[in-house]
Amino acid sequence: MDLTYTPEEEDFRQEVRSWLEAHVPRRPLKSFDTREGFQQHREWERTLNEARFSAVNWPVEYGGRGVTLLQWLIFEEEYYRAGAPGRVNQNGIFLLGPTLMEFGTPEQKARYLPRMAAGDEVWAQGWSEPNAGSDMAAIRATARKDGDDYIVNGQKTWCSRGAFADWLFGIFRTDPNSERHRGLTFILIPLNAPGVTVRAIAQLDGETGFAEVFFDDARVPVANRLGPENQGWKVAMATAGFERGLMLRSPARYQNTARRLVEFYRAHAEAADPCLRDAVVRAWLNAESYALNTYWTVSRLMSGGSIGAEASLNKIFWSEMDLHMHETALALLGPRAELLRGAPDAGNIGEWLDGFLFALAGPIYAGTNEIQRNVIAERLLNLPKG
Ligand SMILES: Cc1cc2nc3c(=O)[nH]c(=O)nc-3n(C[C@H](O)[C@H](O)[C@H](O)COP(=O)(O)OP(=O)(O)OC[C@H]3O[C@@H](n4cnc5c(N)ncnc54)[C@H](O)[C@@H]3O)c2cc1C
Repeated sequence: MDLTYTPEEEDFRQEVRSWLEAHVPRRPLKSFDTREGFQQHREWERTLNEARFSAVNWPVEYGGRGVTLLQWLIFEEEYYRAGAPGRVNQNGIFLLGPTLMEFGTPEQKARYLPRMAAGDEVWAQGWSEPNAGSDMAAIRATARKDGDDYIVNGQKTWCSRGAFADWLFGIFRTDPNSERHRGLTFILIPLNAPGVTVRAIAQLDGETGFAEVFFDDARVPVANRLGPENQGWKVAMATAGFERGLMLRSPARYQNTARRLVEFYRAHAEAADPCLRDAVVRAWLNAESYALNTYWTVSRLMSGGSIGAEASLNKIFWSEMDLHMHETALALLGPRAELLRGAPDAGNIGEWLDGFLFALAGPIYAGTNEIQRNVIAERLLNLPKG
């Protein structure tokens, strides 16, 4: 692997860096799990799109710049370095977008991708149901064909960004006699369609990070189906592969956290428990290893390879690394770790607690780590099924 950047890549980095320095909002936006913050983040997506920075590696015709995946990594490095806002449309741009490129018809790509890149249509993911979380094959929500439409019934839950999003993608049972992974279809549904009810789920902090979505005879055109009927599992697994294996969590996110942790340790080293030094070093090494591993994955993809079951290794690594980094920060902070963002004298300490609480969810979303370990055991190590 050649780890030197080409002049073109260096120029791209410089262009991204200058643009971000000029455009990243000076004051942090409100959380995108509030109505006001969601709109602020949508506006930010529009600003990114005007410079064709919202989906840099997409083809130009769909709103991207057609750059390589390696340049996408460079973009992400600069993005986190600049402290730019979180991506409210990550479900769309990083997960559904690549899935549409692989399985969408030309009409579907032209219809959905530019509006996704522009932040005009923000997407929620509808996999989970009350009785189908880890076991997605237990999905019970149905879509029955009726002429040129599907009639959709059932419930999805834990839809991130769902409270304010415009569209939902999910899998629904189209063959009522099917079982498990068969007979499911991937469908794109506007959340303002008649028969669709979105109910926000308030979290402990009062923000609405999730929604549950109910379908009561909602009519959705058959043209909104992605991929063949009853083949939704295959399409959904491609989406999950992008999620776990590459796009959702770029290494820059963790390198940035590791850098902050090292700075934080240096500032407090005198008072800190010396044992924590090892944990800080480990955090930094983990973030660097993850970055190198991602460069390896990207090189493979650029030479025609694909992401397989090893996406599960990746998902376990980033989620456990994130948790470890935040636990280390809280240990360094001692009793002050409990200061909430905005508490008197908290300064920016509260960010570590916020980050820790979100990191706790890492081993759960995008498929729990127990399930990823099952995948690794069965598909990578060829161990017998449990
Ligand atoms: C922050 C966050 C964001 C999310 N966003 C979305 C979203 O946008 N869209 C969406 O559809 N869902 C979303 N989810 C839901 C998430 O996908 C589910 O919570 C997850 O798949 C687990 O499902 P469950 O909660 O029903 O737990 P269960 O499936 O009931 O699992 C409970 C426990 O049992 C373990 N377990 C279950 N089966 C096995 C097995 N076969 N072997 C070993 N252990 C097992 C699990 O690992 C877990 O520890 C989100 C969750 C979180 C926390």
